[in-house]
Amino acid sequence: AKRQRDAVPQLFSPELEQEREARLTLERELRHAIDNGELRLHLQPQVDADRHVIGAEALVRWQHPARGFVSPGEFIPLAEESGLILPLGSWVLQEGCRLLGEWRRRSEFSDLKLSLNVSVRQFQQPDFVDQVLTAIYRHSAAPGSLTLELTESLLLKDPEGTIEKMLLLRRIGVSFALDDFGTGYSSMVYLKALPLDTLKIDIAFVRDLSHDTQSTPIAAAIVALAQSLELGVIAEGVETETQRAVLAGLGCHQYQGYLFGRPLPVEEFHPTPVAQREA
Ligand code: C2E
Ligand code: CA
Ligand code: CA
Ligand code: CA
Repeated sequence: AKRQRDAVPQLFSPELEQEREARLTLERELRHAIDNGELRLHLQPQVDADRHVIGAEALVRWQHPARGFVSPGEFIPLAEESGLILPLGSWVLQEGCRLLGEWRRRSEFSDLKLSLNVSVRQFQQPDFVDQVLTAIYRHSAAPGSLTLELTESLLLKDPEGTIEKMLLLRRIGVSFALDDFGTGYSSMVYLKALPLDTLKIDIAFVRDLSHDTQSTPIAAAIVALAQSLELGVIAEGVETETQRAVLAGLGCHQYQGYLFGRPLPVEEFHPTPVAQREA
């Protein structure tokens, strides 16, 4: 009883009240940002064994007029909680497909794949498949160039619905990657049933990769799992040549990370290194 009595004033503490206010302000500003074009896509290259750029992941950025650059780590969780992830996700989908439409008409870009992050709430919208189709057709994007990155938590909620939507989109050529693989709670049964194309090894398992650490067996197991399910595998967060070499040794030949390129504004992203373009 004493503990309860002590806990009550906590609910009205000035700190909590301030935090709540700050969250509400940020939420209001994010809503404004979505409507007023303060969001941008940055692109991070994805490369193959020869370091050729084979695609890019689109990562959303918020250029706040007063606060400057706000990191997605800060506003994506807030967007998820508040439901703003739906308009935000729609914007990313439109912008991504608009970009793919442009790429289709530029020979150096036309073979690239573009990966978009899709949140669980967004994917679970009953009209999600329609939204994707509409965005593709509106911008004449090549559906075969679009990859959607999903997370394992989708499987917990509604595996049948998830599979059905994936199959519909795959029929027109859209690909699927399972993001942050290894950090969630995938059941092997569902993993086998999911119409996936790629597993994405989470940065957590890449970070500590060296020739002699504990992380290697986990990365090795993920690569082996991908191979036995006949899925592609890509590692995220590759920062060092050692990490790349260990991954290559395990059989992972696609990479994304600062070693190959940081996320760049769309206008600055190019699949061919500057030196080769000028040659
Ligand atoms: P994620 O999907 O796992 O994206 C990878 C994150 O790792 C990105 O952070 C990227 O900038 C960062 N990264 C890439 N290479 C390296 C590296 O070599 N080392 C390190 N330390 N980090 C690296 P970012 O851009 O801050 O995005 C954070 C998260 O926000 C993303 O994680 C994703 O979950 C979410 N997010 C970003 N854009 C979107 C979006 O358009 N929609 C949704 N739903 N979520 C998004
Ligand atoms: Ca991702
Ligand atoms: Ca990821
Ligand atoms: Ca991650």
